[in-house]
Amino acid sequence: MNAQVHALKPLDGASLFDPVPFKVYTQRDLDRIAPLARLSPEQRFEMKVVSSVLPFRVNQYVIDELIDWRQVPDDPIFQLTFPQRGMLAPEHYDRIAALLRAEAPKDELERAIDEVRHALNPHPADQMQMNMPVDDEGHRLDGMQHKYRETVLFFPSQGQTCHAYCTFCFRWAQFVGDKDLRIASSEASALHAYLRQHTEVTDLLVTGGDPMVMKTRHLRDYLEPLLQPEFDHIQTIRIGSKALTFWPHRFLGADDADDLMRLLAQLVESGKHVALMAHYNHWKELDTDAAQAAIRRVRATGVVIRAQGPLIAHINDDPAVWAKLWKMEVKLGIVPYYMFVERDTGARNYFEVPLVRAWEIYQQAIQQVSGLARTARGPSMSASPGKVEIQGVTEIAGEKVFVLRFIQGRNPDWVQRPFFAKYDDKATWLDQLVPAFGEEKWFWQDEYQSIRAQKLAT
Ligand code: SF4
Repeated sequence: MNAQVHALKPLDGASLFDPVPFKVYTQRDLDRIAPLARLSPEQRFEMKVVSSVLPFRVNQYVIDELIDWRQVPDDPIFQLTFPQRGMLAPEHYDRIAALLRAEAPKDELERAIDEVRHALNPHPADQMQMNMPVDDEGHRLDGMQHKYRETVLFFPSQGQTCHAYCTFCFRWAQFVGDKDLRIASSEASALHAYLRQHTEVTDLLVTGGDPMVMKTRHLRDYLEPLLQPEFDHIQTIRIGSKALTFWPHRFLGADDADDLMRLLAQLVESGKHVALMAHYNHWKELDTDAAQAAIRRVRATGVVIRAQGPLIAHINDDPAVWAKLWKMEVKLGIVPYYMFVERDTGARNYFEVPLVRAWEIYQQAIQQVSGLARTARGPSMSASPGKVEIQGVTEIAGEKVFVLRFIQGRNPDWVQRPFFAKYDDKATWLDQLVPAFGEEKWFWQDEYQSIRAQKLAT
């Protein structure tokens, strides 16, 4: 596909395009992960407790190539993939730890785990209630979300896992095996029927989990039909993925990697804009031969790689890390796209960063990079009313305020209208902010409440 990439050889002389076995570890295998032996028995027990509640999955590539074990437990990729005690509230941790120590009966343990999970806001921003579209007869369409006019999200059922799991994942509920908490569909025909009817939709975002865990033939079943003229209104196909980080061999030596490249090139050549929405948190994810070869190979198909990821305590709450990440992305031909605020779900207490600090980090990082890296927007909260960006902190008429704007809104008219929140140095999410200047409510509040009431009644 790309002669330059084919010529690349890793140090041991094997080709990056040789198949590499995918070796994965979950909670049951914690004791088999060799480098964990350097941790104390107590630390390993803590991991077992936390990973009973929150999903854990890592693979050999992450263990061998991304984590610097000399820096553990502070290594950012270790924090990104391995469970940490602070991820559970003390009362939740103590409850599950006591049951595990007492070797409690399975059903008692499962009940406790279930209760803790439900206390962790498994579906933030009303995803289950407010974003699922309905068909002509009023039935909810599983595996789809339609929040903003022009974009439909699709969750193919074969893509509801990832090559490894991020500890802070806001979609963690997808992975814990609880059917009530899953959003997924295997219905290619339902997706196509919905898109056929909704000609206002220009963008399809295929997401998960990670759609790149799917075999190419499944991805093809969903995407190839979109090349028919009846889908001309679908101009952009986005694929949300962290495979470039967690398993770059998916794009190199996997048995259907060549077929994947052909599919991507075919979509691009047919006139669609295809964007791989790559999830990156730290520049270390870009710093291996395999990661860089995979990036070059994807780019050679004409696909645009856009990078986005949340700002997370213990992983990347440092302007220098973001500046280096954005610079490396630009160097590798990736477009920096979003810095998100950690969402209000799961282990948020461990990972969240106050909004004012998030803005400072963004500002200090963006000042260090050239114009081409200043395409990164943020810090942005994907909240139920819309995507709200913190534009800054300032003083107006003697009052210290946050300046906010909608990047996306449930009503498109809200977008780009600055609004103001009272300064609060502890707030970490939109629902903790209150309007500035003594206003009783946000300019969008009444309308949002009525949209919400309408959706919840459906
Ligand atoms: S790659 Fe995305 S969906 Fe998968 S675990 Fe990480 S944050 Fe969650």
